Order: sequence, then structure tokens, then C-alpha cells
Amino acid sequence: MRLHILGCGDAFGSGGRNQSGYLIEANDRLFLLDCGPTSLPAMKRAGFDPGRLDAILLSHLHGDHFGGIPFFLIEYLYHKPRDYPLAIAGPPGTEDRVRQLHGTMYGGGKSPLELPPLSFVVLNPEVPQSVAGIEVFPFAVPHQTDDVSLGLRVTYQGKQILFSGDSPWTDAFVKHARGVDLFLCECSFFNEQPGRHMNYRQLEANLARLECRRIVLTHLGEEMLARRRELSTATAEDGMVLEV
Ligand SMILES: [Zn+2]
Ligand SMILES: [Zn+2]
Repeated sequence: MRLHILGCGDAFGSGGRNQSGYLIEANDRLFLLDCGPTSLPAMKRAGFDPGRLDAILLSHLHGDHFGGIPFFLIEYLYHKPRDYPLAIAGPPGTEDRVRQLHGTMYGGGKSPLELPPLSFVVLNPEVPQSVAGIEVFPFAVPHQTDDVSLGLRVTYQGKQILFSGDSPWTDAFVKHARGVDLFLCECSFFNEQPGRHMNYRQLEANLARLECRRIVLTHLGEEMLARRRELSTATAEDGMVLEV
């Protein structure tokens, strides 16, 4: 399994980085973890045909994580008609929010003829799901208060990736990182803590508790980028390919 970093920036595109998007290439599956506004061009830049995409798994419904979906939908309407549904899996409310967003950006979206074939899957915390043959274990993380934000542990053909979504530290990461091949962990800040995000100091204090094979930090903000030399952990770069 290969993970292509399409975007490891925060919502602000700090450092000129793309917003959240990670393409997972397995033998016979191609799927996205999150779909930020820049994910479609980044997928094309990485050399992939968007028509091959089987599924989009969403950690939460902030614009930098799902705002790219309408571009995929018009790609399928006008350039690459699909003959099988694209699975879109996310926290409760995903289907409504995707349809609303598409309607706001391009109009329509209510009748099936105005959208490509889609199959929506609700990811409820602690309820394992199979999405396009990919095993997903979602769990709640403390990023949003009114909506559900998820961390996602994804398993396909014996390989496991844990994606934190956006979240400050929670001990849930200790449990779900155990034994995974890769922990892709949001880390927006170094010392600062202006919102419900990870800061590096908090993560560093807990690193020894994480029994994962590898950890890579992502969703990097300006402060993290400025202090990259002080980190003991790997950081993502747009265009980076990780063998899992
Ligand atoms: Zn974000
Ligand atoms: Zn967020």
C-alpha cells in the first residue's frame, strides 16, 4: 500500500501547501482520506486518473477536509463519467453537507441525474464499517463541539493506517495507534494552542506511548513550519510517497 501526500497544509495553505488530502493506492483500490479543495489538481499532478477513485473517507466536515468533493463530482459529470458509484463515507450529516455544498458551488444536486453515481456511508464513532471493501474503524476526537469529528483507522489487505483527522491530543490515539503501520497525525502548532488542534509539545510528551511503526506529522501551520528543525518526528511534504 502506498500513501501519496496530496496536501499536508492547514486550512490556510500555510507555506503554500495544499489542504488536507491523502491518496491511498492499494493493489486494486484507490481511495482518499479527506478531500480538501486542492485534492483534485494534486491527484492529477501525482499522475492518477480520478476516474479510478473508489472511495473518499472523510474525517470531518470542515472545508479544508471536504471542500474539494464538488470538483470531483463535476469531473465525473463532464469529463470522466462513472459506471460504478463513488463511495463517500463520513460522519453523520455528510450526505446533506456534500449535496448542499455542490448545490452552492454548481447548482442542482437534488435529483440523481444532476450528480454522478454516489453511495454515501455514515461513519458513526466506534462502529466498524466496510467502504468499497476497505475496513474503516471511526472514533470520536475532540476537535468540534457541535459536529462529530473522527479519527479513522483504515485496514486494507493487512496494512493499517491511523489518521487523526484534526484533533488535540486524546488518549484514544494510544489505543488506536497500537500496531498500525503508519500514524498520520495532524499537528498544526508547535507551542501555541489557539483552537482544538494538536500542538507538538503535547504530542512529544506522549510519543513514547504510541506503539505504531511510524508516525508522520501533517496539517502543518506556520509555527510548525518555522520550527521544523526542532522536531524529532518526520513531517509530511506535498507530493511525498510513503510505502506502508
Ligand atoms: Zn483542518
Ligand atoms: Zn477541522
